[in-house]
Amino acid sequence: MSDPLLTVDGLQAWYGRAHILDGIALTIGRGEVVALMGRNGAGKTTTLKAIMGLVERRAATLRFDGRDLSALPAHRIARLGVGYVPEDRRIFADLTVEENLEVGRQPPRPGAPAWTPEKLFALFPNLAEMRGRRGTRMSGGEQQMLTLARTLMGNPSLLLLDEPSEGLAPLIVKQMAEAVRRLKAEGLSVLLSEQSLSFASSVADRACVIETGRLRWTGTMAELLADDGVRAAYLSV
Ligand code: ATP
Repeated sequence: MSDPLLTVDGLQAWYGRAHILDGIALTIGRGEVVALMGRNGAGKTTTLKAIMGLVERRAATLRFDGRDLSALPAHRIARLGVGYVPEDRRIFADLTVEENLEVGRQPPRPGAPAWTPEKLFALFPNLAEMRGRRGTRMSGGEQQMLTLARTLMGNPSLLLLDEPSEGLAPLIVKQMAEAVRRLKAEGLSVLLSEQSLSFASSVADRACVIETGRLRWTGTMAELLADDGVRAAYLSV
């Protein structure tokens, strides 16, 4: 692959004295969607947090868009164009949908079109219908969409999505998958952590499979779907 947007190699991470990640390696090309897969506790969330600088980590290589991230704090990494959407919804419950979006607004990246609330409402039609509604009156799935939409207002070129389909109603899961596919069509790169093979295979180009903080397998989504052994060994299927 020529000139990946993100290159991670030899990534280690700790919570206090607990050594969680041991040698994670992955690349994400421009406009590519990669699924980070593995069972509960495999280290998917920790990998996203480690890239974002939210846990203690060290790496042989941690490069994004030509910049070394390894010494940068999370807010600097965000400013370079990495948008992190955690699994737990992070909206301001007392603010309306539109106000939440304004909180996330950042200047556009040079050469890239800026997200606006109107563009986001076209991507998430259900948010458009509730633009004046406060977060307290939204379902969990709607809050998850709003968290993603607000992150997009920061105009990232790479999105780190933590378990985007987790705990969502089937209809919302479908809308979330459609949103990820449209973001890819807009040229965004996405690394998503996912336990659901059906969600991952509906959006991702490639997969990285991890177990107990180590990379076990990497390949195309089609290869993963064809490999019963890998799925049986490392995924909950
Ligand atoms: P899940 O699907 O359950 O979120 P995951 O693959 O995202 O799983 P992580 O949340 O990255 O897994 O957890 C990896 C390991 O790190 C697990 O053994 C977990 O118990 C441990 N861990 C997670 N958070 C902490 C923490 N704050 N302090 C100590 N250990 C933690």
